[in-house]
Amino acid sequence: APRIGVLALQGDVREHVAALAAAGADARPVRRPAELDAVDGLVIPGGESTTISKLADIFEMREPIDKRIAAGMPVYGSCAGMIMLAAEVLDGRPDQRGFQGIGMTVRRNAFGRQVDSFEAPVRLDGVDGGPFHAVFIRAPWVERVDDGVEVLGRVTDGPAADRIVAVRQGNLLATSFHPELTGDPRLHRYFVDLVRAA
Ligand code: GLN
Repeated sequence: APRIGVLALQGDVREHVAALAAAGADARPVRRPAELDAVDGLVIPGGESTTISKLADIFEMREPIDKRIAAGMPVYGSCAGMIMLAAEVLDGRPDQRGFQGIGMTVRRNAFGRQVDSFEAPVRLDGVDGGPFHAVFIRAPWVERVDDGVEVLGRVTDGPAADRIVAVRQGNLLATSFHPELTGDPRLHRYFVDLVRAA
């Protein structure tokens, strides 16, 4: 089984480890450079991107992760993890910094503070079996992507209709929402397949 780490600095680590294991991966939390060396792919969980950014420096994980990404390691970022994979962040803290990432601009907490959390169906390109029941929690959306970034999913209706909420660029995958919270294994399976193929 492919060995996949979940970056365990802050956020919903356990949920991703469980979802990856259910999708057929040998999943474990990763907090140290030596632990990163032992995995073939990485998930950056939901949580708080400003905190994950700070802890990435404190735990000396920033450079090792940048290097692995440059070398082609598959990474999936969910919510705060999507923010950590974005080349540009709007409404971020001035000192927060992402990893070498996806050519896109994301807006933090984009869906508005009155509607902190909501759920909506999202159809994903390349994922069969009908729309995802997507859960958004103070989620970012994607405002712009470079050529070469594949848009996998958008919100279908409501005030945020057409906003991009799932993307892929090569071996990097990101969603605004949290598939690890809903028991739908399809997105983790998609990522496990990506790690297997890499
Ligand atoms: N608002 C958080 C951030 O900016 C993301 C929220 C989440 O991951 N559920 O990092």
